[in-house]
Amino acid sequence: MIIVMKTNSTAAEIGAVIARVQEAGASPHPIYGVERTVVAVVGETRAIDRALFMQMPGVERITTISAPFKLASRESHPDDTVIRINGVSIGGEEIVVMAGPCSVESRSQLLETAHAVKEAGAQILRGGAFKPRTSPYSFQGMGLKGLEILAEARELYGLYIVTEVMTPEAVPMVAEYADILQIGARNIQNYGLLHAVGRVQRPVLLKRGMMSSMEELLMSAEYILAGGNYRVMLCERGIRTFEKYTRNTFDLNAVPVLKQLSHLPVIADPSHGTGRWDAVPAMARAAIAAGADGLMIEVHPNPAKALSDGPQSLKPKRFAELMRQIKRVAEAVDRTLSTVPESQPAAEPELEPVFA
Ligand code: PEP
Ligand code: MN
Repeated sequence: MIIVMKTNSTAAEIGAVIARVQEAGASPHPIYGVERTVVAVVGETRAIDRALFMQMPGVERITTISAPFKLASRESHPDDTVIRINGVSIGGEEIVVMAGPCSVESRSQLLETAHAVKEAGAQILRGGAFKPRTSPYSFQGMGLKGLEILAEARELYGLYIVTEVMTPEAVPMVAEYADILQIGARNIQNYGLLHAVGRVQRPVLLKRGMMSSMEELLMSAEYILAGGNYRVMLCERGIRTFEKYTRNTFDLNAVPVLKQLSHLPVIADPSHGTGRWDAVPAMARAAIAAGADGLMIEVHPNPAKALSDGPQSLKPKRFAELMRQIKRVAEAVDRTLSTVPESQPAAEPELEPVFA
């Protein structure tokens, strides 16, 4: 249910509506739009007496949200959500690129990659410190040490960090190092984890599960929004189908459909979506043409030696080439590729590259 306030309603009138929703035992979520404020009411709404609310000063009308994902839906929030992380805006006119290795493997590997992606124009550095692997015998990530290396890269290159958090207990620790918390495809229905990231004030990149419908993705986003964290990005990373030539089937349909259903930014991950580096550039360009707000791309200085996801990782040179193409595709769809200001060149890494 949405209580639409009049355009000239006062803060006191909005406050009174919020208080009365709470008294009735439901949860109010005020959404301050460009033109007017609406109060989305979720939870136990049966006891809400609409006539009573209609008589309150400042209330214009009351409508029903038909989608099951109330706060994530465009019905409750017609304007696009723009997530601001200092200088970077996600979900606005600019296209944002998050790039880096699948896993943080060593200080040298991460800093070398960070330098390369920064030079190419990425603003956000990705890298897993805690890795959800299919096999318990595969590399599980560097853990806290990996987070420390990511933090060092942020300092050195002025990149923001996105990294995965796998358990509710680890949320405070990962939130200390990361600018964006990633919820991986395997954890999309880990409700304890969704609750935990809903309670912190860090943007969340929520990946679609390999067997999740778009509605299930939006319902998982709803858990985070309902917890009070409104800075959620949806990430299309491919779904499992019968097709064998690609690791997943990159569901490009999801980009325009999620944008229509929801106000949340949509990020495309063609690296996991395809599982093969030679298909990544084409799908990255296609995702931007389809209206994605950003990309997540795996980049590794020596993919053949990568401890995870080497076959889908781009070498830095190819990534830089892709960035030049993305810039042009973005312009063709009236967007701009958000790049590093000229005044802030990437610092040279203070180490010998480990990979020749
Ligand atoms: C990753 O980003 O490296 C990752 C594990 O992705 P996903 O959860 O989409 O498989
Ligand atoms: Mn990966």
